[in-house]
Amino acid sequence: MREGWEAVIGLEVHAQLNTKSKIFCRCSTEFGRDSNDHTCQVCLGLPGALPVLNREVVHCAARAALALNLKINNESIFARKNYFYPDLPKGYQISQYDRPFSENGKVEILTSERDDGGRPLEWRLRQFGITRAHIEEDAGKSIHEDVGDATKSYVNLNRAGTPLLEIVSEPDFRTSWEAYDYVGFLRRTLQYIGVCDGNMEEGNLRCDANVSVRRAGEPKLGTRAEIKNVNSLRYLQKAIDYEIDRQITILETGGRIVQETRLWNEKENKTYTMRSKEDAHDYRYFPEPDLPPLEVGSEWIESLKSHLPELPEARRRRFIDDYQLSSDESFTMTSQRELADYFESAVRTSGNHRAAANWILSELLRELKNDNVDITECKIKAEDLGALIKLIDDNTISGKMAKDVFVDMFATGKAPADIVSEKGLVQITDASAIEKIVDEVIAANPKQLEQYRSGKTGLMGFFVGQVMKSTSGKANPQVVNDILKKKLEI
Ligand code: ADP
Ligand code: MG
Ligand code: ZN
Repeated sequence: MREGWEAVIGLEVHAQLNTKSKIFCRCSTEFGRDSNDHTCQVCLGLPGALPVLNREVVHCAARAALALNLKINNESIFARKNYFYPDLPKGYQISQYDRPFSENGKVEILTSERDDGGRPLEWRLRQFGITRAHIEEDAGKSIHEDVGDATKSYVNLNRAGTPLLEIVSEPDFRTSWEAYDYVGFLRRTLQYIGVCDGNMEEGNLRCDANVSVRRAGEPKLGTRAEIKNVNSLRYLQKAIDYEIDRQITILETGGRIVQETRLWNEKENKTYTMRSKEDAHDYRYFPEPDLPPLEVGSEWIESLKSHLPELPEARRRRFIDDYQLSSDESFTMTSQRELADYFESAVRTSGNHRAAANWILSELLRELKNDNVDITECKIKAEDLGALIKLIDDNTISGKMAKDVFVDMFATGKAPADIVSEKGLVQITDASAIEKIVDEVIAANPKQLEQYRSGKTGLMGFFVGQVMKSTSGKANPQVVNDILKKKLEI
């Protein structure tokens, strides 16, 4: 941030709710193979067709609202937001306006600025307000490129009527990384409870950023620009930084900020004017006459609340407390519900949480990344990773052998005990057997023995190497060390 300035950021996140059918009709929400496959009178906006609210949408929205500590209104009202656009066949979008589904939320999350390499500098706990989360329908898509006649534009209404939850934040963010961490938090939370896939590249989680700047200490908010079209967290962060810089430069050179909607261009790392910003009154909002008020009972809300799973932020903090993971480790481990489950299951079977964390965060995630797959496609069962750790801990195999067994497990999904016996990998821990080999090695190397005893203790490594060589690496290194030390120093 430039000296003497403060940025203010508010975020509007559109989350596509995970329902099988659309919000007001029976059409499928699946990605259509052909344009306009999944359409009917209702989502095509034919005159006289009437909307009927999909119960599952309310279910998803309620779980999301509860996970974000929002207060769900027992009665909310659908409203028409009127505007003209070719991908909006009715000429209005059914949304909610002055009586939204839920409001007044607060979330507490860990956030950190990052260094130039994107590494977190210092995690802090911060609170951010959520103004409201309301239910609405998505519009269709206009297509100007890559199909049919290049002089024409086309409209695909498969997406029209897909249910969305719009989550509007308070203008509580002061840096682009806070915004980044908040949207990451929203995404993980919605994925955890299974109400949204949260894939920004595919557009099922979309984010608009409202950005303004003001002189440090100034209580009044500055004029904002709204940035659209950012389809990854990293672009969101970059777009906000670019915008903060642009606005400060204008103000420092005596210019004024105009309220407008800007588009992020990812190729040029810049934002561009799209249109001047419309105000609420431009939309001529009025209550939707074709839908009754949405009523939800307090008991139903309470029962949903009691059935929510442990949420990622709580889990992240619990992992730090229960398993002594660092903040960064805990963040990675809870980034996906399945990964966190995997870790806890490996901890249960191995009884060694440090080892489970190390194996997962280094070997396992690296191999998964190499193969470009995620934990749900991993061939190694969590229990088997736990079993591998046990084999090391009870000295059946050495850490070095375990690495080879792991590679095999990763490729084949076989149980570690099977691989160990197939390959005859069992470690020699029997002290008398090792002692015998140590005696042989010492007897075969009288010169080195003499040098060692006259002070060249660095030769220890040589003796260890010889013992390992004659046992094909199977001797337990700790036992070898102990015995060698005793014998050499007689
Ligand atoms: P609209 O209906 O035009 O989208 P809202 O008043 O609902 O406008 O605000 C949308 C978002 O903009 C909210 O997240 C809010 O916190 C944020 N916001 C409002 N004013 C400012 C401002 N001056 N600077 C930054 N963000 C702002
Ligand atoms: Mg807006
Ligand atoms: Zn339909």
